[in-house]
This record gives sequence, structure tokens and C-alpha cells, in this order.
Amino acid sequence: MERVFRPACPAFMRQGQGLAGAVLFLLLISCNGPGSGKKGQKLGADLQIPDSVSINLKELHPEPQQKKRIFMTFDDGPNQGTRNLLTILKEEKVPATLFLVGLHTKSSTEQKLMWEDLQRSPGIELFNHSYSHAWKNRFTGFYKNPDSVISDFNRAQALMMIKEPIARTPGRNAWRIDSTSRTDMVKNKSVIDSLQKKGGYVLIGWDLEWRFNHKNAQAVQTPDQLIAQVDHLFAANKTLKPDNLVILAHDQMWRTPTDSLKLHEFIRKLKTRTGYELALITEYPGVKEALANQKRF
Ligand SMILES: [Zn+2]
Repeated sequence: MERVFRPACPAFMRQGQGLAGAVLFLLLISCNGPGSGKKGQKLGADLQIPDSVSINLKELHPEPQQKKRIFMTFDDGPNQGTRNLLTILKEEKVPATLFLVGLHTKSSTEQKLMWEDLQRSPGIELFNHSYSHAWKNRFTGFYKNPDSVISDFNRAQALMMIKEPIARTPGRNAWRIDSTSRTDMVKNKSVIDSLQKKGGYVLIGWDLEWRFNHKNAQAVQTPDQLIAQVDHLFAANKTLKPDNLVILAHDQMWRTPTDSLKLHEFIRKLKTRTGYELALITEYPGVKEALANQKRF
């Protein structure tokens, strides 16, 4: 984008740190950059840009993202909770991203049929959560060999015919989106690095987990508690990227109608919050650019 102001202008203007400061400056001095703004353009009731000065208002005061975005992601399907999950997503017409386990698409006839249903469902995205899920969660051994991790993901990618190399690591909260890199377990960092650098995958972690009891798969937080956590993370700016929050949940949490109601309630309550919107993970900041930069496919 063409810069309107030359380097001689003060830093607060070059960096777009406030319209008020810019206007104040304009009243004091005129910069001699090339013009793109309309002459005599009104800023407000009493403020006007002098005709001799050009200004790119958008650059000085970029429009903020209108709403805070929430990315619902569901791991481990297709499994016994996926059918209820899909029914709720369709009923509420909300976007969601499912990270699927290759092995689960052929574990049973029901899971195979479920996977076929998922592929026919608009409004959701299906991405890679490995082929084996570390062979029944044997994460320590799984993350020892970079080449076998890459081949496990490649196997799932091919089996599920997933076009974009977007993935989530089983048992690890890891992000790799171009230069954005975060790993919850430092000892696995180099192997997960290779999944990005050698394997060509964009890896999506999470900011908040809707936890579940591993004995009965029931959600730990109530929908209200989860929304309070969402509010807090946004307010405290504790998400990886400001105003964007990825929630992790698991398909198996919704295997009974009673448990599914919690997801339904959460989505309905979220929809009443006008400051939030739900989005697909391909809309997450930097993902499209990272996909364009990946050389694998
Ligand atoms: Zn998982």
C-alpha cells in the first residue's frame, strides 16, 4: 500500500496511532507526501483537512475488526458423539471445524457412514487430527520420531482426501502458522516443527478447552461457565491473537441427548452476544497466507 506520509513525519502518525494525534499534527504542520485523500474532506462537524495536505484516513485509523471471533473446533471424530454434534451444527446453522482421526473413519460401519455425512455437510470444515491419534494416546513414543509423525499425518490426509494441509496434533496444544509458533510441551517442539517445516502442515492449537470427564465424556464446564471463560480471555487479552479465540471440544462429549443439550445451550447463548461471531478456522488470522506459503502440495 502506498504510504501517504514520508518518513519525516512523526512516528505516531506513521504508525496510525490515533486520529486525534494526526489531526493535531495537521493543524501544526503540513507533510509533503503524495496525495490520495479528497481535498477539503470533512472529518467531523468542525474539523476539515486543509486542502494542501493529503491524508489516508484508513491508514491512520484502520477500521477495527467489527466483532470478536470465536472458532469452535471439535476433535477425535467420527465417533459416537459426531451424529449429535452435526445435528446441532445444522440446526443452529453455525460454522465449525472438525479435526478428524483417519483411523476413526473406518473403525465401524457407523463411523464410515458418519464420515460420509460430514463430507456432504455444508458450513463445516474437516481437517487432519492424525491417522492413529498416537495409537491410543501413546503420545510420548509418538512424538519421538519426526518422520513417523509426518507419515502418520500424511496417511490421514490421503485417506480422508483433505485438500488443505491444516492439522491439529493429538494430545498437544501446538500452533504453527507461518512464523507464529507455540508448543505446550517443549520436549516435543522440534518434532512438531518438522511437521510444519518438512511436512508442510499449518497447525492449529486452542485458546480454551471445553474439558470433559474422561470416564463418562461429560462436559466439565457448564455453558455459562464456558461463556464466562470466553469473556475473560478476550477481556484480559489472553488469546494467541487478539480478538480471536479457538475453542477445543471433543465429539465424544455429545454422545447422549442430555449432554448434547449443553452444546446447544452454549451456541444459543453465544448467538445472543452481539459482540461475538463464529467462524471457520480457515478464517483465522494468517491461515490463508500460511497455506499459500506452504510448499508441500
Ligand atoms: Zn484428539
